[in-house]
Amino acid sequence: MKKRVLITGGAGFLGSHLCDRFITEGFEVIAMDNLITGDLKNIQHLFENEDFHFYHHDVTKFVHVSGTIDYILHFASPASPIDYLKIPIQTLKVGSLGTHNLLGLAKEKKARILIASTSEVYGDPLVHPQSEEYYGNVNTIGPRGVYDEAKRFQESMTMAYHRFHGLETRIARIFNTYGPRMRLNDGRVIPAFIGQALRGEDLTVFGDGSQTRSFCYVDDQVEGLYRLLMSEYTNPVNIGNLDEISILDFAEEIIKLTGTDQKIVFKPLPKDDPLQRQPNIDRAKEVLGWTPSISRSEGMKKTYEYFKSLSPEELEKSEHKDFSKHIRE
Ligand code: UDP
Repeated sequence: MKKRVLITGGAGFLGSHLCDRFITEGFEVIAMDNLITGDLKNIQHLFENEDFHFYHHDVTKFVHVSGTIDYILHFASPASPIDYLKIPIQTLKVGSLGTHNLLGLAKEKKARILIASTSEVYGDPLVHPQSEEYYGNVNTIGPRGVYDEAKRFQESMTMAYHRFHGLETRIARIFNTYGPRMRLNDGRVIPAFIGQALRGEDLTVFGDGSQTRSFCYVDDQVEGLYRLLMSEYTNPVNIGNLDEISILDFAEEIIKLTGTDQKIVFKPLPKDDPLQRQPNIDRAKEVLGWTPSISRSEGMKKTYEYFKSLSPEELEKSEHKDFSKHIRE
């Protein structure tokens, strides 16, 4: 009998890559998604596979799956600042009510559950790099608060089920991750810059571009998540890449990569945009034996190939979003 895994957000960027990985590992995979930000084209290549099933369902409503479930990975959530602005209440609900439903399902099925948490639990961090011991600096009522606080609540709820019900739980704090199947119009910096380069538009750097991020290629991320699920470790684990870069330097890298002669234009910095972000991954190294192995230049080449293969209509859909309403006062 094959082991059965439920992946929520299965039609999304990370969720769909997880579906691929678990199919490759010989699991029966149930992907669940309400398709608000997910897209069936990310998983259509799996539809013919008899070990793959898709349930169109919103996990903030009671979740029913018949039969056994061995593992649950809860990856349903909007995950970009543009999405939090457009669908703030769904963002809050999927991290809180959705998590509660899935913890309940895990308890009922005696399944092990891995929760997708985020570097956003550290907010605009006052320590650098961010280790799992840091409690964070989050503005509860800012535009990102709907995501950050839902994810913080999610971690508390998950630990409560672990401690009170003895549920087998895992918590991954995922740092910026990129690769094929990112949504071109989600407003995140990588699809935004590549989309602009492909459409021949100038690249929009927010603020002066001195804010930093550390980008992890999706295959490395999936490997870390897989190892965490299979490990015996129950406290949160950062999963991300150490290679930190300023957004301005990154825009210049994209111009080189795409070979365009686009200029860089500066736009206001969105409110509460973290000024620096880099994971401390000592814990992942120690308990999972994991470190990322794909360099930014290699990962970005693969990502660019993917975006280049999209149709001109898809490229057009990814219009530039104006953050000016949300600038720092
Ligand atoms: N950013 C930018 N131009 C864009 C989109 C994003 O300069 O067109 C910046 C954004 O202000 C942030 C960084 O790129 O400092 C990463 O943004 P993203 O939305 O990808 O993720 P975040 O890490 O902020 O959640």
